Amino acid sequence: MAASILLPIVLQIRRIQMPMKTPFNFNFNHRPAIFCHPLNNFSFSSPSLPLYPTRLLCALSPTPPSPSPSPPPVKVLMEKMDLIGIVCDEQCTPGKYYCLLCPKCKGGRLMERSLSLHVIPTGDFAMWRCFQSECGWAGRIFADGRLAFNEFSRTAKLFGGTAKKSLILEPLGDELITYFSKRMISQETLKRNVVMQTADRQAAIAFTYRQNGQLVGCKYRTINKKFWQAKGTEKLFYGIDDINDADELIIVEGEMDKLSVEEAGFLNCISVPGGAPTKVSTNAVASIQKDTAYQYLWSCKDLLDKVPRIILATDSDEPGQALAEELALRLGKHRCWRVDWPYKDDFNRFKDANEILVQLGADALKKAIQDAKSYQLCDTDEIQVEEDLESFHEPS
Ligand SMILES: [Zn+2]
Repeated sequence: MAASILLPIVLQIRRIQMPMKTPFNFNFNHRPAIFCHPLNNFSFSSPSLPLYPTRLLCALSPTPPSPSPSPPPVKVLMEKMDLIGIVCDEQCTPGKYYCLLCPKCKGGRLMERSLSLHVIPTGDFAMWRCFQSECGWAGRIFADGRLAFNEFSRTAKLFGGTAKKSLILEPLGDELITYFSKRMISQETLKRNVVMQTADRQAAIAFTYRQNGQLVGCKYRTINKKFWQAKGTEKLFYGIDDINDADELIIVEGEMDKLSVEEAGFLNCISVPGGAPTKVSTNAVASIQKDTAYQYLWSCKDLLDKVPRIILATDSDEPGQALAEELALRLGKHRCWRVDWPYKDDFNRFKDANEILVQLGADALKKAIQDAKSYQLCDTDEIQVEEDLESFHEPS
């Protein structure tokens, strides 16, 4: 996949296009009291986001809605806040304000409880804002599953902008659920991975990146395979929370492949965030600080260091194989295994996990992963490189 090449271009285009085609302006005029609170100078909303609670809630449910009474909205809200890392110590009561620890900045140097959370009196949604000036994370979460928040501030500042854009995500609609089901990804898997869609006319897929339960980034993809990222999205493996305490893990090349591998029964799978390089670099691996293209790997080095067996299940094309090689060089080939995707005809192999899932089914995908071969057996002349890496991997 050449997403790594495409991404910067797409990002540039988005930067030009995005400026507020729809100024976010939710109008909850029927509840004016919310906006009178002195702490709340946060207003954001979208005229393109009508309130269709029942349809939206159904959209992400794996089973049809049951006639039994649904849980009270505040309990639903608390569950949803939990998913993005906002933890209310006590039972949230509608109408009340809470000062909580911000999951993004952890309250700054003084570890203050800087996140102000308000559940509106009807319990339909909660809104939050972090009052740490460095952070300023703010958003709303709705009992029907919609989520709205400002972009990840760190990079927004790097770009010199102080005004933070709002992002609004909503549960996947019928069109995207159908798209995923054609690619054999179930609603259960989508729900577990909190895959959502943008609440605009484009309705792009939003792959939410989470770490320790908190939302740290978002990557978007249209059905036509255009990718872009929320500003400030941290360079991180997709699905990183799924490999805590894993003694074996699988690395794939895209979010879709991560979801596919899950359909084959493996949860211990992560995806690189930015696709594959076109070819293996001829330069030696740079020091950790200078190895910018692989910061997503180094940023979770402690977690990866504990894993004795790593299965590389990247694409079968040249960039995919180059990615496997670059990862193996950094992880240590002695603990890497490589998946060879089965042949689809006399000359060509299937391209990736999703193609196998769609064409051959979940059992074939599972078998291909289980049949992974030792990377060292695939590649015999890296002993010298391996020795060099030993010293490189020592903490500096
Ligand atoms: Zn904060």
